[in-house]
Amino acid sequence: MDVLARTELKATRDQLLAAVERESAPLELTTFAVRDEPITFAEAMRGEYRAFKVGDRWGPPWSTTWFHIRGRVPEAWAGKRVIAVLDIGFEGSTGFTCEALAWRDGKPWRAVDPNHRWLPITSGDVDFYLEAAANPKAVVSGPDKAPSMIALRESPEPAFIFRQAELRIQDQSARTLALDFKTLLDLALALPDGDRRAQITEALEKFAQTNDPAVLAAAMSRPSQSSHQISAVGHAHIDTAWLWPLREARRKCARTFSTALALMDQYPDYRFACSQPAQYAWMKESYPEIFDGIRKKVAAGQWEPVGSMWVEADCNLPSGEALARQFLHGKRFFMKEFGYETKELWLPDVFGYPGSLPQLIAESGGNFFLTQKLSWNDTNKPAHHTFIWEGIDGTGVFTHFPPADTYNGDFSAGQIVHSAADFKDQDRSPRSLYLFGWGDGGGGPEPDMIESAHRLRNIDGAPRVELSRAADFFAVASAEAHDLTTWVGELYFELHRGTYTTQSRTKRANRRAEQALREAEMWSVATGDSYPASELDVAWKQLLINQFHDILPGSSIDWVYEDAERALEGVIEVAGGITTSAQAKLAGAGENLVVFNVNSHARREVVEAEGRLTIIDAPACGWATIDAAAPSHEDAISVAGRTMENSLLRVGWDEHGLLTSIWDKQARREVLTPGARGNVLQLHDDNPKQWDAWDVDIDYRKSATDLIALEAGEVELSGPLRAAVTFRRKFGASTLEQRMVLDAGSRVLRFETEVDWHEEHKFLKAAFPVAVRSPRATYEIQFGHVERTTHTNTSWDQARFEVCAQRWADLGEAGYGVALLNDCKYGYDILGSVMRLSLLRAPTHPDPTADRGRHRFTYALMPHPGDFREAGVIAAAEDLNNPLRVVRGGLAEERRSLIEVDTPQVVVEAIKRAEDSDAVIVRLYESWGGRCRAHLQTALAASRAFLCDLLERNREEVSMHDGMIELELSPFKILTLKLEA
Ligand SMILES: [Zn+2]
Repeated sequence: MDVLARTELKATRDQLLAAVERESAPLELTTFAVRDEPITFAEAMRGEYRAFKVGDRWGPPWSTTWFHIRGRVPEAWAGKRVIAVLDIGFEGSTGFTCEALAWRDGKPWRAVDPNHRWLPITSGDVDFYLEAAANPKAVVSGPDKAPSMIALRESPEPAFIFRQAELRIQDQSARTLALDFKTLLDLALALPDGDRRAQITEALEKFAQTNDPAVLAAAMSRPSQSSHQISAVGHAHIDTAWLWPLREARRKCARTFSTALALMDQYPDYRFACSQPAQYAWMKESYPEIFDGIRKKVAAGQWEPVGSMWVEADCNLPSGEALARQFLHGKRFFMKEFGYETKELWLPDVFGYPGSLPQLIAESGGNFFLTQKLSWNDTNKPAHHTFIWEGIDGTGVFTHFPPADTYNGDFSAGQIVHSAADFKDQDRSPRSLYLFGWGDGGGGPEPDMIESAHRLRNIDGAPRVELSRAADFFAVASAEAHDLTTWVGELYFELHRGTYTTQSRTKRANRRAEQALREAEMWSVATGDSYPASELDVAWKQLLINQFHDILPGSSIDWVYEDAERALEGVIEVAGGITTSAQAKLAGAGENLVVFNVNSHARREVVEAEGRLTIIDAPACGWATIDAAAPSHEDAISVAGRTMENSLLRVGWDEHGLLTSIWDKQARREVLTPGARGNVLQLHDDNPKQWDAWDVDIDYRKSATDLIALEAGEVELSGPLRAAVTFRRKFGASTLEQRMVLDAGSRVLRFETEVDWHEEHKFLKAAFPVAVRSPRATYEIQFGHVERTTHTNTSWDQARFEVCAQRWADLGEAGYGVALLNDCKYGYDILGSVMRLSLLRAPTHPDPTADRGRHRFTYALMPHPGDFREAGVIAAAEDLNNPLRVVRGGLAEERRSLIEVDTPQVVVEAIKRAEDSDAVIVRLYESWGGRCRAHLQTALAASRAFLCDLLERNREEVSMHDGMIELELSPFKILTLKLEA
C-alpha cells in the first residue's frame, strides 16, 4: 500500500469514526468538592452542591469532586441509542490522569476515563453522579526531580478543566461500518505485501468511493487460514499501589470492575480475568454491590478469578514463608467467596521469579504459570513462549508468556497478527493467550476492543481468535502441547536490578515483620491457649499487600512509602505484642532468665541480658531457663592495637578502619585477598538511563569512590565475650557509623551500621575481596539456594551483574568458603573473588527523596572451613536475623523444644495454628539441596500427623510414635505437616 493510499484510507477511517456520534443536547452540572480523603456515596449526598459549568476548573491534586449531572433526552431522539459524552479534563492515558466513577440510583455504575468517555442513557430523564478523582500524573523519568506527592496533596490549585458533558446520539450502523473499516485497515497495515493485503486494500478503496457496506462484508467474510488459535482474555492490570496510594487503587478497582460488569451484560461472550484477592476484599468491604455483581458473574463463568497470590507480589524479596502465605490467603479467598480454585500463578508484571516458585505453585494445588515480563530483558530475550519451567526441587509447571509481550493489549488487528507471528513455539503448541484492556492504572477493556474481537474471530490474514477464559486456555494448551522445552532454575529478570535495594527502610520493615510474625505464631502455638487468629490474619494481610510488586521493590511514589512504613511498623508492633504476652505466659513468674529461640537448631551465643553479656545455650524452636549469675566460660576475646581476636579469627585493620587481614586460626589461612582491604565502602554514580528507582545500569561500575577517610575509630568493648570497634565516616552530605563486632567462639564478624544518607543518584556497596576462587557463588533464595557464575563468559552471565538473595551469599572453593550475611538487604554482586553487598541507593523518580535519611542495618562476614552447608552458614544467617530473646521468669521446666529435627539439613520455617482447626501446622524444608531422612520430635500435643499442601489440605497420614515422625525429603523439598491433638 503506497503512502498516498494509506493516508487517504486513514482519513476515511477517521471520518467514519467521527460520524458515529451526532446531535447534541446539554447536561447540567453541580458540584461538591472534598479536599481530604474520599467519602462514601451517602456522605456525598449530604454535601452542598454548587453551580458548575463546562469549562470550569476543578480538582486540586488528589482531591475528589462529586458532580451531579442532570438533563433530558430530546423527544426527537426517541428510539435512538443515546449516550452521555464526558471529558472531565483528561491529560494523559487511562489510569494516569483524572478518572471518575459514575453512580446511578445510589450504586456504582461505570467508570469514566480517557478510554471510557461515554455512558449509555436508557431513560428520558438523565440523573447521575460522578465521583471524580483529581489524580495527578506522576513523573517516572526526566531531568527534573519528580514531584513529591506528599507535598502535592496539600496544593490548593485546581488541576483539571471539565471539557465536555453532553448527550449525543450514537448511530449504530455508522459505528458498525466504522469499526469494520478500521479493523480491515489495521489488518492490511499489519500484513506483508501479498494477495490478501492487496484484496483488503482494494475493498477499502472501493468502499471509500461507493460507501457500499457489502464491499466490507465481503472482505471480512474470508475465513482464517491460520493454524494458530488466540485465546483472548479481557484484563485490567491494577497496580495495588504505585503512582497512587493504596486508597486510590481501591477506587480504581471500583471503577474498573464496574465497567467490566457492565460490559458483561452488554456482551454475553465477554470474559474478564481478574487477579489479586486483596482487591476483591476491598470491594467486599467498601463496594458490596460491585462484589455482589462479581459473585454473580463468577458463577455465570464470565468473570474469571485468576492468580493465586493475595496480591501480585514481588518474588525476589519476600521470604519463603511469606510467598507461601501469598498462596494460602490468595487461594483461600477465592475458594471461600466463590467456591473457585485457581490453578495458575498469574504474575504478568513481576521483576523476576525464583526457582522455588514451581514447587510453591504445585504445593498450593496449581499447575500453570503466566508472565510476560521477561520480554523486557535488556540482554537476552526468552527463547520460548510456552515451555516447562522446572524449579530447584525438580517440580515442573506449564508456563506461558503471551507473545504479544504485553498485558495491556489494545485488540488492534496488528497486535493480533504479530502475536501469532512472533509466537516461538508454534510447532509444539498452536495456541497462545492474549490479554487485552487498559492496565497498570486500571481501566480494562473498552467496548471497541470487544467489537474488534468479534471481527477478528475468523478472518483471513489473522490467526483465529476466541474470547476465552485463561483457565480454559491453560487446560487445552497444556493438554495439546507436545515436546515442550524445559527451563531449569530461576527466571532471572534482566532489568530493574535496583529494586533489590531501593526504599531500604521499607525493605527492612518487611524483613522484621516477617520475623516478628514467625515468632508471634510459634510462641502463640506454644502456649496452647487461645490463638490470636484474627489479629494474625490482619497482620499477615498487611504484610502481604505491602509485598506488592511496586511497593516492596521500591518503585512507587513517596506517599506509598509513608503508608507502607507505618503499616509494617504496625505489623511488627502487633506481632511483637503477641510474642511478648505469649513468652510471659510460657516463662511464668520468677527471677530467672528465660531464653527463647525461634530457629530450628540449638544455639550457643553471646547475648546481652539485663545489661550483661553472657553465653547462652538455647534449644531448637524452644526456650530454656538460664542461671544469670553463672560465670560464662569461653575463650577470651580481646582487642590489642588494631587487632581483635577470638579463638577462631584474628581481625586486623589499618588507620582508615579498613580490614587488612582476617586470619582463620583454625584453618590457618588468610581470608582476605593478599594486599587488598576488606569491608571497603564503595560509592558509585548511579544514573540509570530510564526507570530511575527500578534500574541499576551496568555502567555504574565506571565510577567508584572508596570511602577511605575516617572521622574517628574507637574501641568500644574488649572482651571477654565480645569485642567491638566503632568507625565513623563522613562523605558528601552523609555520615556513617559502623560497629564491628566479634563474639567469643563465633566466626561471624558483624558490621552494625547506622547511616544518615543524603546523597543523590549514588549507589553504596560494601566490598570484601577474599582469597577464595570459584566460578560460581551460592545465594539463598526462598526455600533453598541457587548458584550463579562469578564471571562474565556469556551474555547470560554478564546480565547478572547485580543479583538478589535472601539472607546470605557464599563463595566457596574446595575446603573453604566465605559467606556474606545480611539482616535486611537483598542486592549482591560477586565478580571474581570480590564479594559485595548493596546497601543504599538514592533515585529521584518517582519518589524525589527515596531513601534519604536514617538507616540501620547489619551485615556480617563469615569465613568458614569446608562447605557452607556443613559450616552452618544457613543457621548463622537465620541467627543474625532472629536474635535470641531473653525475658525474666521462673520456669518449672528447664528446657523445652516444640520441634526438634535431627539433621541441620531440615529447617523449620513456621509453626502456626491451622487456618480451619486447632491443629498445628509445621512448615519445613530440605535446605542443603540433598536427599535426607529426618526424624522430627515434637513436644506439642499431637496424636496424628498428616502431610498437607500449602492450603493445609491433607494429602496423606504419616505415622507418629511418641511424638516422633520420620520423614524422607528430596532436595529442597517443602513439607507442610499438620499435627492433630
Ligand atoms: Zn504492575
